[in-house]
Amino acid sequence: MRFQLYTEKVKELAFGKWDLILQETSGLTDDEVNPRKNNMPCPCCGGHDRYSFMSVDDGNYICRQCGAGDGFSLIMKVLGCGFVEAVELVGRYLGVERQTYRCQADFLREQERLIESLEARQLKREQAAKEAAVEKHRQQALAAQKAAGILKMALPANPEHPYLKRKQFPPFNLKQRGSRLLVPLYTHGHNLVNIEHITSKGEKFGLKCGQREGVYHRFGSPSWTVYICEGWATGASLFLMEQQSIRVYAAMGKGNLTAVSLIAKEQNPDSRLFIAADNDTHLLTNLGLNDALKAAEAAGAAVMLPPAIDSDSKGTDFSDFYIANGGYAYGAQ
Ligand SMILES: [Zn+2]
Repeated sequence: MRFQLYTEKVKELAFGKWDLILQETSGLTDDEVNPRKNNMPCPCCGGHDRYSFMSVDDGNYICRQCGAGDGFSLIMKVLGCGFVEAVELVGRYLGVERQTYRCQADFLREQERLIESLEARQLKREQAAKEAAVEKHRQQALAAQKAAGILKMALPANPEHPYLKRKQFPPFNLKQRGSRLLVPLYTHGHNLVNIEHITSKGEKFGLKCGQREGVYHRFGSPSWTVYICEGWATGASLFLMEQQSIRVYAAMGKGNLTAVSLIAKEQNPDSRLFIAADNDTHLLTNLGLNDALKAAEAAGAAVMLPPAIDSDSKGTDFSDFYIANGGYAYGAQ
């Protein structure tokens, strides 16, 4: 049996069983083959928070350090072997015989059957992805309704809230529920879709199943100058440092900078846009600056960077800059 055909047969039989295969052949743990666990230690490169196993169908995984691939690629990395060895290992585990064909017609029939099987699997994957997208959309719509209900019932934020005091912010027009600050998050059309909760200790989390992509919190009214930054505290600091005379979008994370910059451009077509980057000098690659440059290119914006504060081992953002320059006193200037 030609190797390519053998590989296809192994793939066919392995479909949907990669969690077991990877545990049995390569010693991966239960958690390392669980698609519901994200940002785990990588079994290949040792990165401690960058690996996610995506699917038991093909063994697909993603690591932000050593790359992505399917189950064979994972075996090759973990065991340090080649593709042929990985296929043979899985083939032996599944008991796939290497057949010889009596004639060319038999071989071609098997080839055709495997192609059809491959197409059927592809279709199944696409269908599952479509269904997952519909379900995600439904859950996000429910979370948006819930967000509106929570904000309606919540009280205005207490100016003495430990997080506000620590960051030296007024309560703006935030709401509070128990000890948690509520930061409303919006998306296209300024539609409310989620709420960022901030605890007294500064821990942050959104609503379960709430939309995270392309969401923002906006400060200020329309202005000629518009800033876009990563975090809510950075946005609040920029807004105060500019005497509340500008509009600021907090993109709620690096990954959202480009999407939110495009929304900001759409909502403020005549304004000058600036991406206020985090200066991640503590990292080997300055991720804050890189993501800001990408967003700036997409939205036709300029980039500004806070000067690095040497004593800060976690890099510098405009919130650190605000506090280092007087905090409340700076905002009141
Ligand atoms: Zn890795």
